[in-house]
Amino acid sequence: MRLEGKSVDKLIIKAALTGMIPTKKDTPFVPVTPKEIARDAYKVYKLGASVLHLHARDKNGLPTYSAEIYQEIIERVKDKCPEIILCLSTSGRVHPQVEHRSEVLSLKPEMASLTVGSLNFPRYPSVNSPETIKKLAGLMRKNNILPELEIFESGFINYALFLYRRGILTDPLHFNLLLGSLGTCPANIRDLSYLVDSLPPGSVWSATGIGRFQTRTNVGAILMGGHVRVGIEDSIYYNYPKKELATNEKLVARIIRIAEELGREIATPQETREILGLSSPR
Ligand code: ZN
Repeated sequence: MRLEGKSVDKLIIKAALTGMIPTKKDTPFVPVTPKEIARDAYKVYKLGASVLHLHARDKNGLPTYSAEIYQEIIERVKDKCPEIILCLSTSGRVHPQVEHRSEVLSLKPEMASLTVGSLNFPRYPSVNSPETIKKLAGLMRKNNILPELEIFESGFINYALFLYRRGILTDPLHFNLLLGSLGTCPANIRDLSYLVDSLPPGSVWSATGIGRFQTRTNVGAILMGGHVRVGIEDSIYYNYPKKELATNEKLVARIIRIAEELGREIATPQETREILGLSSPR
């Protein structure tokens, strides 16, 4: 909980460039190779993104947990964007075993995602057992990695706070609220307000809208003093009704334009570290 400081009102732009689902068949604009990911990273970094939420793909373009591929992505991204904060995915959607999911933590990124409950995506379940969550949280604590707590329902917040009381999660807590995926929390202001109200006072949080709900959820978060995650991972479309495909650059540019119109300045990577309570770059 950090309410002081001049950077507190600034807006953190997290870019989710790739995700697990979109393929080149869905959109030629999804970056899948380390080179493509680094190229998009540089474009959104120049615009103002300060955090990259990253997924790796193998040579066939399929999701992989390989630390070797993540390492190549990190090297290429850091070469072009030395200050940017990296948040690596520990998603179990395709590879549920904790040994696989935790492989990226050996790279000691500043942040890593941690889904604190189970849910159904439209086609697959995302199973995160208490044991898996605790193991991943423990490894993150040990390696001084800030968990990005993925919240799909208010019960996930309850569980995160339970882990906090047990000392399995520690300060600072950072929440990413995901709305609009079929079978989980609907993407509307009422539900977003409810989730935010359920967080400890002064929590630092961002919001993500899935598919057609991306922009409206981001705008809700901007108005409510939260932060945003935006990118092709969450929507391959720039204009959903017209099925106009997006690029990461266009999605990030749009939300920055809206934020500036609404009076939220964009946080630099250094200001983002202050807001999130990250100790020092790495
Ligand atoms: Zn992700």
